[in-house]
Amino acid sequence: MIAETGNTPSTAVPCAGTDTATWIRRHALKFRERLEHRILLDSSKKGKVVLGVMQSPRLGTSLRINNIRCTTCTYNCVYCEGGGPAVVSTVRRECLSPYELYIVVKNALEELAAKGTHIDWLSFNPTSEPTIDIALWREIGLLRDLGIPIAVFTNASLVWNPLVLDSLHCADYVSLKVDSVDEDTWRRINRPHTCLSLDQILRGIADFSRTYAGTLTTETMLVRGVNDSIQELERTGVFLCTLKRSHSYFMTPGPQTVAEPALGPDPAFMERAAVYIRDHIPAAELVPLPMERV
Ligand code: SF4
Repeated sequence: MIAETGNTPSTAVPCAGTDTATWIRRHALKFRERLEHRILLDSSKKGKVVLGVMQSPRLGTSLRINNIRCTTCTYNCVYCEGGGPAVVSTVRRECLSPYELYIVVKNALEELAAKGTHIDWLSFNPTSEPTIDIALWREIGLLRDLGIPIAVFTNASLVWNPLVLDSLHCADYVSLKVDSVDEDTWRRINRPHTCLSLDQILRGIADFSRTYAGTLTTETMLVRGVNDSIQELERTGVFLCTLKRSHSYFMTPGPQTVAEPALGPDPAFMERAAVYIRDHIPAAELVPLPMERV
């Protein structure tokens, strides 16, 4: 909890024995402290920027960052953990002040460091789509100052947009969603905004993979009755093999807050899928549980 404090600016003048440069530096620091305190106070009233510390086999200990305060996404996936976004939109906009995000993350890291928790990654992994935020590249640029590598988890629906690509190129690790390369299945599982085109997205993913210098991974969610067939796996695998990527993860849905949650495939299919992936899709694995945990 952040306590309110007075914020009356000091009118003190340099006293005898203090040079002007030292006086200015001291007062600039005090002003910055007051500004950061005010930002933290305001931010704590508007919703969470830091969602918590996550553990995962691929990133170790990461701090999960939420740069999208309202739940807006370009997709409305059947397995969305929050029950789906409030708004399905492809309109990009500034969701919060980049400096506010920076201050909140810096403060969270200081608190964690005081408790002895080391953070390996800063992870843009909100409960919505992080590339909706037009200031993502500026946020990544500011967070660079903290000396921790930065990951972005995106549904990849906007990777055809050059401005989104510019943001993703700033990150050290990018995870792209590829649930299906079949138009009908894509519509059923991801329920995309009507103005999105799967062909355009797949071309964008392929182009990005060729030029991206960081670690590129993909995620494919396997959902019972939607994309749980070997034919689907084969088509997705053929596409993944055309990408310049580090690793691909096949997963099953985690808990969802809806009456009829999407389920993972039955155990018999999971066994066949594990064998198929091992034998036909290099640098890929089936992870039958949600990878990140708090
Ligand atoms: S892309 Fe992610 S946030 Fe968007 S609807 Fe799908 S699961 Fe939910």
